[in-house]
Amino acid sequence: MENCFGIDIGGTTVKIGFFSREKGLLEKWEIPTRKGPEPTALLKDIHGEMADFLKRSGIPWEELEGVGMTAPGPVTEDGCLRGTVNIGWGDVFLGKEAAEIFGVSPVFVGNDARVAALGEYTYGAGKETDSLLMVTLGTGVGGGIILNGRILNGVTGTAGEIGHMTMNPFEILPCSCGKKGCLEQYASAKGMVRVAQDMLSRWKKPSALRSFGTLTAKDIWDAAKNGDALALEVAEYVSRFLGMGIANACYIADPALVVLGGGVSKAGQILLDMVRQSYAQNVFAHCRDRKFALSALWNDAGIYGAAAMVFQQGTFCD
Ligand SMILES: [Zn+2]
Repeated sequence: MENCFGIDIGGTTVKIGFFSREKGLLEKWEIPTRKGPEPTALLKDIHGEMADFLKRSGIPWEELEGVGMTAPGPVTEDGCLRGTVNIGWGDVFLGKEAAEIFGVSPVFVGNDARVAALGEYTYGAGKETDSLLMVTLGTGVGGGIILNGRILNGVTGTAGEIGHMTMNPFEILPCSCGKKGCLEQYASAKGMVRVAQDMLSRWKKPSALRSFGTLTAKDIWDAAKNGDALALEVAEYVSRFLGMGIANACYIADPALVVLGGGVSKAGQILLDMVRQSYAQNVFAHCRDRKFALSALWNDAGIYGAAAMVFQQGTFCD
């Protein structure tokens, strides 16, 4: 008894974790994300994976406390997932559909970045705190706020959506969301590469970045760590936006801890230092020494958070 599945649905892969309340993560694996206009086929894939695992392990379905799932879109408190651009679904009551297909209840569903924040809060970098803001730096920029162990969700499911805060009202290029000047346009992996390409085309300084065929955010951070002047300019430019966005978010949520996660945060200490510096330049003196940390769970934050929703039998702040 006291087991659950934590499932993280992404645009290309679905991560599945089997958890025990007492021992934590016992097994994890991935399957490709089946895309389509409805989630039914993907939910059947997930059901098949869970059934195979339980049969192989000799664990009856009755021993499951429930299933927790993330989804790449905003989820309202009635459980409606509002459009997932990456996968192709429209508005869908994902938890309800999943419970029918899995034959398991309850099924908890939350936004991927918000659930990852819950994972860090319960099992990772935020274990010692009672509130945190997590910023997920990947292809996009996601965010989540945890207060008293619950996700701050809001009426439309967008509380914590820091990536689409408008940071530059004069931007002319559109964001993936259709707006212009979002934090994501500068601080995501894709955004950082765009900033670098723009600087490379305008500036004539020599730079190691010119030798890359396809430039990635990792290449830029690696070059910055090696002291490449242009890469350092790009890193500082991007971190300035990020620190400013976090400072603005902290005036609303005032969390004990800020966690930087997602693939880009593997840049590590240099990213943390630059973002903290920008944060400090953009807040009052008395909240300047807020704690910052890197993610402790990395790519597993989503499945951990999904499991946490089941074990705490709830998702959102009351
Ligand atoms: Zn946007």
